[in-house]
Amino acid sequence: MSNSRFTALDAARNRVTVSVIKHSEKISEFFGSNVFNKNAMREYLPEDVFTSLMNSIERGEKLDMGIADQVEAGMKNWAIAKGATHYTHWFQPLTGATAEKHDSFFHLSSDGRAMEAFSGSALVQQEPDASSFPNGGIRNTFEARGYTAWDPSSPAFLYESTAGITLCIPTIFVSYTGESLDYKAPLLKSLAYVEKAAVEVCHYFDRNITKVYPTLGVEQEYFLVDAALFNERPDLMMSGRTLIGHGSARGQQLEDHYFGSIPERVQAFMVDLENEAHKLGIPLKTRHNEVAPAQFECAPLFEEINLAVDHNQLLMDIMEKVGRRHNFRVLLHEKPFAGINGSGKHNNWSLATNTGKNLLSPSKNPKSNLQFLTFFVNTIKAFHVHGDLVRASIASASNDHRLGANEAPPAIMSAFLGSQLSSVLDEIEARKFENSESDTKALMKLGVEKLPEIMLDNTDRNRTSPFAFTGNKFELRAVGSSANSASAMTVLNTIVGAQLVEFKKEVDGLLAAGESKEAAIMKVIHRYIIESKAIRFEGNGYSDEWVEEAARRGLPNVKTTPHALDALVTEKAVKLFTQAGVYSERELHARHEIQLEAYTKKIQIEGRILGDMALTQIIPAAIRYQTEVLSNIQMQKNIGLPESAVAAQTGLVNNISTRVNTISGMVHDMVEARKKANNLSDAREMAIAYCEEVKPYFDQIRYEIDKLEQVIDDRYWPLPKYRELLFVK
Ligand code: ADP
Ligand code: MG
Repeated sequence: MSNSRFTALDAARNRVTVSVIKHSEKISEFFGSNVFNKNAMREYLPEDVFTSLMNSIERGEKLDMGIADQVEAGMKNWAIAKGATHYTHWFQPLTGATAEKHDSFFHLSSDGRAMEAFSGSALVQQEPDASSFPNGGIRNTFEARGYTAWDPSSPAFLYESTAGITLCIPTIFVSYTGESLDYKAPLLKSLAYVEKAAVEVCHYFDRNITKVYPTLGVEQEYFLVDAALFNERPDLMMSGRTLIGHGSARGQQLEDHYFGSIPERVQAFMVDLENEAHKLGIPLKTRHNEVAPAQFECAPLFEEINLAVDHNQLLMDIMEKVGRRHNFRVLLHEKPFAGINGSGKHNNWSLATNTGKNLLSPSKNPKSNLQFLTFFVNTIKAFHVHGDLVRASIASASNDHRLGANEAPPAIMSAFLGSQLSSVLDEIEARKFENSESDTKALMKLGVEKLPEIMLDNTDRNRTSPFAFTGNKFELRAVGSSANSASAMTVLNTIVGAQLVEFKKEVDGLLAAGESKEAAIMKVIHRYIIESKAIRFEGNGYSDEWVEEAARRGLPNVKTTPHALDALVTEKAVKLFTQAGVYSERELHARHEIQLEAYTKKIQIEGRILGDMALTQIIPAAIRYQTEVLSNIQMQKNIGLPESAVAAQTGLVNNISTRVNTISGMVHDMVEARKKANNLSDAREMAIAYCEEVKPYFDQIRYEIDKLEQVIDDRYWPLPKYRELLFVK
């Protein structure tokens, strides 16, 4: 009987590097060529329309209906000139993937002539037949309509594929009654909220600041696996991760992969990916190997958050597409392989102003350092008060495997500041406030004048922290590699916004009571430093000591998604999000439910596929090999050899029998546990049952199978092994 694993291995070993079509040596010559950007708009729009559109983009407003027809005409002409035949509203429903529904530009005019058209109203708003997107009960069937509307702050782009070119218009997705059904609408609301709050606080320091916008640079980690090998792994295909597989003798222990030389075939993929990304205006900048074998990372230059989120979503999409071109499959799952590093999506976040300043970047000027300290401490304080929400925002079935798995930040939320900034905060904290004037002076000296010297060389890095300050930005490392960053960024913007509102209220109160501005600000900062101390941790976040220490500090350590999601619907969360205008209470409950359901479905799929593989691939292979061993025993006995001659074979037969029985028993029990869980009517209870009653079988079944992998003749083993998945390329 042939084993298709070996056919796949042959294919993988004999790959030739696919050559990459270069557009030009100079990126600047084709960067953004597939984007309806400022240049394209200037060329294709009448001047007054262009100016008006630019204004609404600057102000972050929806497209003015008055110019919609002209904008769409320009956009269409541009797209058609570049070969597009279809257009689509491109949106980010809560499934996690992006969605699109293609319509052709082709129309029949009233007299039956064929023409290319689409109308302004189609640009501004569409009604996708989308009743099957997750909505958490928001859309009952009688109001099953969902609307998509263009958000002009994210430019339209052309998506090229072998099947043709499509004009994609980035949109938000809302229900008939106005509730958000996607990731983007709340993100935009959170942006408006934090912008306003931050501008008001900036006015203590600089009246010229009229706009503040959060920035985001997303480092994206991923694995590459040969397509032929991938196709032999039902678990990778169905769930994105290997549910079974014994560790490779060589994993990452040699530490030779990180920043090592990039294999040629992989490099071709990366160059191709960068080309595609650059055409779409995604400013990819760095590429390198990651810690685990077959693991890589790419990172763009940072951008305004809204665009950065769209670009990351688009990037994940083209990674998949370009990967296939190179006979790779891109694994974006957070933990595709047990025992080696998982993948994250580090979200580098900061706040920038219209005056070109990074509010989280200390400078040589003491006056603007008070501004730095203000935003820095308020961010820490927000993270302390709402760490549970940040945890909820990164929760998913797949990220659960990565968090706290010893090579990723734990599920405990803490912030790393670096030793120098920590000591500045410690010194401020240690000062007592009695006589305002002189205390303020002393504190200003500590907190503000000392900063410039120390910040110039902030190379302090701590890879084990979920939220690390890295010189001029915070890096949220707990985000999962497959996640939509909007979820975490919406929370971060909102909690920092709320914190800034609170800060302003307190400072204004002190100002009204006659305090000087500096004294008032320092006083509040001083208190915030004390109040938020528990969230600061500089040590090794992977250690067991930290788990204990965090418990002593009262920091939550919520390891699994069904429980982490509780934070979305607490009284505290409802108050925060409704006041900020980011989510209504109904939307929060809907999201809570959607995420619980998504969790349950993911675990359900994993359970099914694992059971399937165990029963239809592993056990048959084991039995086949066992039969061969048995006939060997029989033959030896036939020629009169004693029992002792076949001791090893007999032991093997027993071993296989025991494990096969255990596996089949556990698969049966797992199915029963699933049936029980399926009978629960409450989404949270069902998710918890899947987490606590079904999922534990996965590791137990896997343990037995991985043991079998070590004793069964390699020729019989049906699945590409870890060493093959990780090292053949
Ligand atoms: P690392 O050492 O973590 O790899 P880099 O300095 O290479 O960090 O930056 C990582 C990411 O952080 C990049 O995507 C970069 O664009 C982004 N980044 C840098 N400055 C900012 C900022 N002010 N706001 C948001 N992201 C930023
Ligand atoms: Mg980083």
